[in-house]
Amino acid sequence: MTEIRLTNSKTHRKEVLQPLDPANVRMYLCGPTVYDRAHLGNARPVVVFDVLYRLLRHVYGPEHVTYVRNFTDVDDKINAAALARKEAGAAGTLEALIRERTEETIGWYHADMDALGALRPTHEPRATEYIGQMVAMIEGLIARGHAYAAEGHVLFDVRSYPDYGALSGRSVDDMIAGARVEVAPYKRDPMDFVLWKPSSDDLPGWESPWGRGRPGWHIECSAMSDALLGPSFDIHAGGIDLQFPHHENEIAQSMCVHPEAEFAKVWMHNEMLQVEGKKMSKSLGNFFTVRDLLDKGVPGEVIRFVLLGTHYSKPMDWTAEKAEEDEAQLRRWLRAASNAKRSAITDDLIATIANDLNTAGAREIVNQQFQALELENLRGSLEFLGLMREGILPEWADSIREVYELNAIVCQPRHREYLPAILKILERWKEHRLRKEFRLADELKAAALEAGVELRVTPQYAEADTTSHRLNPAKLEALK
Ligand SMILES: [Zn+2]
Repeated sequence: MTEIRLTNSKTHRKEVLQPLDPANVRMYLCGPTVYDRAHLGNARPVVVFDVLYRLLRHVYGPEHVTYVRNFTDVDDKINAAALARKEAGAAGTLEALIRERTEETIGWYHADMDALGALRPTHEPRATEYIGQMVAMIEGLIARGHAYAAEGHVLFDVRSYPDYGALSGRSVDDMIAGARVEVAPYKRDPMDFVLWKPSSDDLPGWESPWGRGRPGWHIECSAMSDALLGPSFDIHAGGIDLQFPHHENEIAQSMCVHPEAEFAKVWMHNEMLQVEGKKMSKSLGNFFTVRDLLDKGVPGEVIRFVLLGTHYSKPMDWTAEKAEEDEAQLRRWLRAASNAKRSAITDDLIATIANDLNTAGAREIVNQQFQALELENLRGSLEFLGLMREGILPEWADSIREVYELNAIVCQPRHREYLPAILKILERWKEHRLRKEFRLADELKAAALEAGVELRVTPQYAEADTTSHRLNPAKLEALK
C-alpha cells in the first residue's frame, strides 16, 4: 500500500499516515461562513485538501474515506448582511432574510467549488442542525470544570487546560500580550473564549440552560466533527489563519470533553494566498472572488491548476500572467490527453502526491508525460488531479480551424465571433509584407500578439492562432 507522508503542524514533522481505522479514514476541513461569495484565498484549502481527499480515496478505496466540511450558517456577519437587506427595503422577516442569505450563499459556494473540480465532501453539516450537540458539549465542559456561565454567556476557562496553545506554540501569557482580546467583565481571564452567547429577540436563537442564545463559532466545529467523525479522527485541515485561535479552541473544547480521545491525529495547514505580490484587500483593488474570475473567462480548471502550482505549505502569489501561462500549458495538455481512449494512473504520480501533497512535483510528471506522448498516462494524471473529467476536452480548451483561401485561423469555439476581425488583421499583415513594409508588418505582429493573436506563415497559409494566448477583445477591436 502507498505510504502517505504528511507534515503534521502539531509536531512540525513529516509523518507517515497511520489511519486509526483503514476501513474508515476520516478528515475534517473548516468550511465557510455563508454570508458572501468565496474569494480566491478561500478556494486554496478547498482545492489543496480535495487533492488529499482524492489521494485517500485512491489508496484506501472511495467507500473507506469520510470527509466532512461544515457550513457556518449562524454568525454575526450573516445577521448583518440580512439586516442590511432589510434596511434596504427587502420584504420578509429578518429570520426569513437570514435563511434566504445562507441558502443562496451555499448554492453559490457549491457552484463555484464544483467549477474548480472539487469533489463534494461526504458530509456538509450546517451548524444550525447541530445546536443540540453543541449545547450537550458545553454542558459537559461545565460539568468537568472547564467552562462557566456568566451573564447569559458560557465561557471556556483556558487556564483549566494546561496544553492550551500547544498547536501554535504559544503560552496563554504570550497570547494575552500579543492578541487583541476582548475584555469583558464576565470573563475570568481575558483569553477565555465564548462557547455560548445571548441572542436578542430579533436575531436567531435557541433555548438553552443559559437562556435563549446562539453558539460561539469554535464549538461548532468541535460538535460537528464529534457527531460525524467521532472524538478521535485522522486529519484536521484548514488555512494557517485558523490555527490560532480557532483550532486551538477546537482542541481545547474537544480534548476537555473527551480526555480519553486524541481529537485530530494530524493537523494540516495551508499557507496564505496573495494577489500580484500583495495581500488581497478591497482597498488595494486586488480583491476578487472565484466567481469574478470565472465570469472574466478564466476557466475553473485553470484556477485549480494555478492553485496547485505552489506547495500548500508555502505562501503563493496569484498573478494574471501566471494564470495566462498556465492556461496555455493546460490547454496543450488537455488537447493531447483528449486523444487517449483510456486513462492510466502511474505509480510515480501517486508517490509524488503521497509525499506531503507535492502538487508542484506532480506538474513536472504530467509535463514529462506530455513531452513523451504517453497519452493514457497524461489523461490519467489530469483526471486524478481534478483537471479533466473522463477524458472530455472542455470547450475552452477546444479549437477550430477556419480556412479562407490562403488564410487560416485557429481559435477557440467561443471566439468565433472575432473571426472577421482577426481575418482583417491577418490580411493587413500580409499586405505589409507584400509591399516589403517590414517595419509596419513587425509592429502589427507585435500589437496582434498583445491582443492574443499570433501571426505566422506556413508553407500553405498565412495563419493567425489565438489558442496559445489569452485573447483580449478590446485590444483586438482597436487594431482592426
Ligand atoms: Zn473549524
